[in-house]
Amino acid sequence: LPAMETRDCGYQFRIALLGDAAVGKTSLLRRYVRPPEPQAAAEPEPTVGVEFYSRVLQLPAGPRIKLQLWDTAGHERFRCITRSFYRSLVGVLLVFDVTNRESFEHIQYWHQEVLSTQGPDKAIFLLIGHKSDLQSTRCVSTQEAEDLAASLGMTFLETSATNNCNVELAFDVLTTAIQQAL
Ligand code: GDP
Ligand code: MG
Repeated sequence: LPAMETRDCGYQFRIALLGDAAVGKTSLLRRYVRPPEPQAAAEPEPTVGVEFYSRVLQLPAGPRIKLQLWDTAGHERFRCITRSFYRSLVGVLLVFDVTNRESFEHIQYWHQEVLSTQGPDKAIFLLIGHKSDLQSTRCVSTQEAEDLAASLGMTFLETSATNNCNVELAFDVLTTAIQQAL
């Protein structure tokens, strides 16, 4: 079962962030797992392959859940390890950059990559429009992202690592949906 029960900590959920390079996956994840840094955070290095982080989440009136959070590089070199990795996921944040049209157009590709590997246990998806602080250069509207999310049967949220906007909420929403689907 992909959602593993652990002795010490209720459940362990394996979740990945998928999306094109430079949409902000690493920044979003670091914002979530690390305490706020007083100075401006260092620029993340481009991710090579996968890296994982973990955080324990206590849902209100729910069990303690250990999140195993996988950061991925959005490029071809990652493809060789994808099938079994995708199959093991219980949750996916599909991330695009609201200032990058192409990253939005590639969302269905990332979605399909995961769906094509899945068995009977389906992952829960959340669509993320990231860099919501960049309103003046945005080129994907909230409405069209909501329409895409609705057509794919998922929820849409806008996040910013820079402004720390909706970062906690995104993981809460995804984890709650996974827990309810168990
Ligand atoms: P990844 O390739 O998807 O992991 O993207 P990174 O996390 O490496 O970020 C790519 C670039 O976008 C970096 O220059 C980040 O500083 C920048 N970035 C990440 N998140 C945000 C955000 O919320 N707002 C803005 N304005 N820039 C961001
Ligand atoms: Mg990265």
